[in-house]
Amino acid sequence: MQYYFPPMAKLNHHFSKLSGNYLFPEIEKRVADYRQKTPHCKLMDLGIGDITQPLPASAVAALAGAALEMGKQGAFRGYGPSEGYSFLREAIASVEYAGLEIDPSEIFISDGAQSDIANFQELFDIDNRIAIPDPTYPVYLDSNVIAGRTRALLKTGRHGGVTYLPCTEENEFKPQVPTIPIDLIYLCSPNNPTGTAMDRKLLKQWVDYAKENNAILLLDGAYSAFITDPDAPQSIFEIEGAREVAVEFRTFSKSAGFTGLRCSYTVVPKGLKIYDFGSIHSLHALWNRRHATKFNGVAYPIQRAAAALFTPQGQKEVKALVSSYLERARLFRQGLANLGYTVYGGQDSPYLWCKTPPKVSSWNFFDYLLQSHQIVSIPGSGFGHAGEGFIRFSAFADSSALGEALQRLKSG
Ligand SMILES: *Cc1c(COP(=O)(O)O)cnc(C)c1O
Repeated sequence: MQYYFPPMAKLNHHFSKLSGNYLFPEIEKRVADYRQKTPHCKLMDLGIGDITQPLPASAVAALAGAALEMGKQGAFRGYGPSEGYSFLREAIASVEYAGLEIDPSEIFISDGAQSDIANFQELFDIDNRIAIPDPTYPVYLDSNVIAGRTRALLKTGRHGGVTYLPCTEENEFKPQVPTIPIDLIYLCSPNNPTGTAMDRKLLKQWVDYAKENNAILLLDGAYSAFITDPDAPQSIFEIEGAREVAVEFRTFSKSAGFTGLRCSYTVVPKGLKIYDFGSIHSLHALWNRRHATKFNGVAYPIQRAAAALFTPQGQKEVKALVSSYLERARLFRQGLANLGYTVYGGQDSPYLWCKTPPKVSSWNFFDYLLQSHQIVSIPGSGFGHAGEGFIRFSAFADSSALGEALQRLKSG
């Protein structure tokens, strides 16, 4: 039998391999159903992954000042450099990477770590082998699925052709170096959702692995500002040799409340090489080319707002903001522990990774918390196979919500 296909636009068939992202819609549905049954209930939302405190005052002042400049003849700015204004790149290099020999030209300003991480994979050949932590933030996997770098979706919900790096209680939620060669490795430290930061020794093992295997490490440091453990580096570039093997993604979203402003940066060291049939290319030059082609830069007032975070006053405000979230996390973690729960994270991250009671699945525990205590959480299984048996609480939630949630759990 022969089929006749009329000329028509055809889908990128890799899209159909995406596992239906039902996590957030499913949570919303269960919460909405519950609200309908009990219209007067007061829900405590501890699932929220978004910031709840306003922008630091220095950022707001700079944003407003730059907005006014834009209305003045002679002061307004049109297109800026696609890789970002040098005032911001220099501020990041001298404050965030002080002593690490990162040149401002190695820092690319962008509108979000999410988009840069999703886009970065397009520099690499389709045949590269990838590894991702499990559980983790979904964009590493999904961007590779869309690009066609994975095989069929398996019954377990995992994807063929991907190496998963389990982050479990047994390995203290630290992704271990594999025994097989992988080309591209995504790491997230501190990891969302487990809240665990990788220590110096482990990062060094990864850097050594990458050197031996000519692999590239793509490190998402969205929560680097939350690290308090002196043994956990804030940047992978604190590790010797990382400049030859690693790219680092950072964002102002979580540390400075920029989720609604949109500003992030990606560090691509000039020493990073990529192979192509015997010839060697600079990854920095390629990302520069890609950026210039597909991106026209972040809005000037927003870059000014970001730069203001690096003034002494801005630094103070950012530290206070981060500390306040960490303090909420500490109190909530302590409260949960006092009630007998096993809780991880919350020390280098705003997220708490709470073990469900024995034999209770992530979704069943989510339902129990919702229906018996009117608390909204996120089922750990939504972040990957190895997240089963956990739920994530977010200390971005209001202090009052966290306190009230503990009271409700206490009263049984
Ligand atoms: C929130 C988050 C991001 C997204 O950052 P944006 O700069 O807002 O796009 C990236 N990675 C992780 C792990 C996150 O939790």
